[in-house]
Amino acid sequence: MYETLAMFIDGRWVQGGDGRSEEVLNPATGASLGRLPHASRADLDRSLDAARKGFKIWRGTNAYDRAKVMRKAAQLIRDRQEQISQILTLEEGKILAEARLEVGSTADIIEWMAEEGRRAYGRIIPGRAANIRQMAIKEPIGPCAAFTPWNFPGITPARKIAGALGAGCSLIIKASEETPGTCIAIVRAFADAGLPAGVLNLVFGVPNDISTYLIGSPVIRKISFTGSVPVGKHLAKMAAEGMKRATMELGGHSPVIVFDDVDPVKVADVAAAGKYRNAGQVCISPTRFFVHESNYKKFAERFTEIAKGLKLGNGLEASSQMGPMANERRVGAMEMFVGDAKAKGANVAAGGERHGNAGYFFRPTVLTDVPGDARVLNEEPFGPVAPIMPFKTFDEVIEKANALPFGLAAYAFTNSTKTATAVADAVESGMVGVNHLGISMPETPFGGIKDSGYGHEGGIEGLEAYLITKFVTQLGA
Ligand code: NAD
Repeated sequence: MYETLAMFIDGRWVQGGDGRSEEVLNPATGASLGRLPHASRADLDRSLDAARKGFKIWRGTNAYDRAKVMRKAAQLIRDRQEQISQILTLEEGKILAEARLEVGSTADIIEWMAEEGRRAYGRIIPGRAANIRQMAIKEPIGPCAAFTPWNFPGITPARKIAGALGAGCSLIIKASEETPGTCIAIVRAFADAGLPAGVLNLVFGVPNDISTYLIGSPVIRKISFTGSVPVGKHLAKMAAEGMKRATMELGGHSPVIVFDDVDPVKVADVAAAGKYRNAGQVCISPTRFFVHESNYKKFAERFTEIAKGLKLGNGLEASSQMGPMANERRVGAMEMFVGDAKAKGANVAAGGERHGNAGYFFRPTVLTDVPGDARVLNEEPFGPVAPIMPFKTFDEVIEKANALPFGLAAYAFTNSTKTATAVADAVESGMVGVNHLGISMPETPFGGIKDSGYGHEGGIEGLEAYLITKFVTQLGA
């Protein structure tokens, strides 16, 4: 049922050159799923050579033919949706229904970028003389390196692979060592679709060793990272040393503002479903719930009722509504956040503790009366913990929403068009969802501001991220 663990270098599935490996665990049981090979220095050198060679082949392939290979890979992922979803749930923990949606989106993202790559338009700029032709041409930036985390092992690699390949770049991807099987399955679909050797390479290892080596190589022209703010800043500094372009999709701490003119029960239903998706391990997870004082009690009561009613269990079981956390570190982090908030005077309205003896389950948690200095209100919780706070005025809540260094996603619920426009304008965030939480689509730009990073994935911006603009002026046209 699980993937065969291997790396993919220059069109071949390989084990690590020096025999190093690590265990991959099922977070629902703690049991081993297999051993993942690590790349040796020689493996990384081969992947860099392959990416250089692959870039020449792929940029020389016309956009129409590139799209055909990518669309075929997307179709193979769709054909294998059930099998890949099981791999995803086994290694990450999220419930199968969510894994299926993620694998479907993975195929959608690849398909969309396959098409968009055919529209990497430049432009003609009128010259100052009749015989001068001026052109701005789009070209692929070159071989790229990408580093992806464990929480969305399908769509995060897909965004980077699809953007790079759609633009005509080659790529070396280091997917998360904790959830490698899904990315292996995606790469397998590309290999089976006929992607030329070297265009897409997959390696694993000690994250910092791999990223330092790849980013330091003159072969790599651009990097893309999704993960935590401290690691993003570290990688961005290395990229700056080589003057390499970078896309940084980092953490968030999304405010959710619930105004006085909405039905607090209906909004709590939407908000709680969003909060506990993937056990809260989502960078755009709704996290700081600011509810107008007139709606606060009803909203908190309904949210608490939902949290208490959710059935935790192995994601492979159809009855499970929330799976485990992806690793033991997250359980420890949740215990710390809840303990700290309690010590500072917060009330634990639901959950607040570990669940069961096997695996990494943590109960859906609701915290009320949370003081502003609680760590959960200042550091990204990345888990199933929902702090709910009352507010009185628009200005007060906007100040609170914008108070943190993060700026990834923000949400607001209101029936007033005037308030909707005002909040979307005032909030410091790369993405804003008004009256719903659906802000991540293949065709829309996804990215943050402030400490949440820079650059975009998805939308035309996600293709642009892998393109350079070359200006050509020609006399004698
Ligand atoms: P972490 O900061 O150690 O790692 C985050 C991710 O970066 C992991 O996938 C890891 O493999 C990778 N990584 C770490 N060091 C790296 C390096 N030097 N080079 C390349 N990749 C590197 O933390 P963690 O315990 O895995 O996750 C904890 C925090 O990370 C969460 O609380 C959350 O804030 C953040 N996170 C964010 C996202 C996101 O989607 N933005 C995803 C996963 C984790």
